Amino acid sequence: MEIFRILLICGIMYLTSQILIVILKYFKNLIQSEQLIVEKNDKYFGLAFSVLLIIGFLYFQKKDVILGLQLGLLITLFWGLLILFIKFIVHISDMFYVKHQRIEGINSKGFKIAKGTKLKPYYWRDIKWIKFDKEKFRLIFKEKNKVVIDKKTQNLYLLLKNIPLGFKDFDYEYIDSFFSNLTTCVVCGAVAFNDSKCLSCSCTNWTNVLEKEYLNYEEYVKANQLEIFATMEKNEKFSDFKIIDKNFKFDSNWTPMVTKTEVLKYSEKEFWEKE
Ligand SMILES: [Zn+2]
Repeated sequence: MEIFRILLICGIMYLTSQILIVILKYFKNLIQSEQLIVEKNDKYFGLAFSVLLIIGFLYFQKKDVILGLQLGLLITLFWGLLILFIKFIVHISDMFYVKHQRIEGINSKGFKIAKGTKLKPYYWRDIKWIKFDKEKFRLIFKEKNKVVIDKKTQNLYLLLKNIPLGFKDFDYEYIDSFFSNLTTCVVCGAVAFNDSKCLSCSCTNWTNVLEKEYLNYEEYVKANQLEIFATMEKNEKFSDFKIIDKNFKFDSNWTPMVTKTEVLKYSEKEFWEKE
């Protein structure tokens, strides 16, 4: 008889948690105003639960039935809280990712913003307006909500060059002159040098800070070129001093200050795995 009691308690506990999950699912659908879909399993759970309750009350002690119900409730609550906690952690880590967003898949239809593991598409036809904030160097546009693409966003420059004509708030002339005023970076060869910094490789002009670290500007340039053009593995193909940065043009007249041999020697010393 004892074994039947345990089976009854376990059965009620399991079915209670299943039914609570089904109810929560229905509530979620209702809130998101999605269509209610009653699955076959849901009906079976309901049926089995009712039968077990009737049997429990008729042939077993009331306290066993209530114990089963309580345990089911507790287990569901525990799982629910655990899932909420995991979602919360994921949300927190997503918040840190905001700064590391990047633009992908720019074409005549639109583009995508990648944030952490999420990829959200935007279509030009759905965008109501686009503005470029010159002060903070960021792009702001409105689709359903306002979206800000700050200057740390990867591929922002490529996006700026590809905004289709026709957005009356967007200063196309300013963007054109911005790109035509860029000069060739001594370090990486991209036409991406703006005022005192390269927008592609982040190298700068000769400054007081650099003076403390390097003998002269040539040494600074060489050190950065070794770093930028290095290969991470022995079998990796050498870039032949061409960095692929879709945001900027490459100056074909530019020449590096280091040789391929020097770069590979540096790579071997710094990055290649020792055999
Ligand atoms: Zn550069």
